[in-house]
Amino acid sequence: MSTQRPVVDYSLTKRAVLRDFQRGLVAMGEICDSSPYLRNAARFHGEQTELRCPVCRRENLTYVRFAYGEALRQSAGQARRPDELSLLAATVDEFQVYLVEVCRGCGWNHLIEQYLLGTRVTGSNSPRRIDVDINERPERYGRVSQSARRDGAVATAGCDE
Ligand SMILES: [Zn+2]
Repeated sequence: MSTQRPVVDYSLTKRAVLRDFQRGLVAMGEICDSSPYLRNAARFHGEQTELRCPVCRRENLTYVRFAYGEALRQSAGQARRPDELSLLAATVDEFQVYLVEVCRGCGWNHLIEQYLLGTRVTGSNSPRRIDVDINERPERYGRVSQSARRDGAVATAGCDE
């Protein structure tokens, strides 16, 4: 990990979903359900990656980042390119970014990570954490913040065999 930003990592959740799919427990239609909005966001604001789609294995994945936060006012919830996020991070107090991977071929999509950006975040020496409601389906979260882990609420994350 090269970043010191507070990050919630959803890779374990993603792996669990893909495992269920490979075992035939989940239909392709259930996991390849990107909305027209998400597809458009991927098309116009996405970042093409070199990563192959784990479901159809035909297309490369596109990363789409959505910015949320009161400080963003009416633009909250919009997809943002990395350069736009850098600009926002330098001018806005604090906002959350949701990074989603999308396959523009089959429609696979999954939340990859969630993190905080903004002048208050990068300018602060004290680590901040993202408030995640871990009581709501804690098994859905891969790694959560230190304070949550202290509570033991996610002690079983990744052991959901
Ligand atoms: Zn695909």
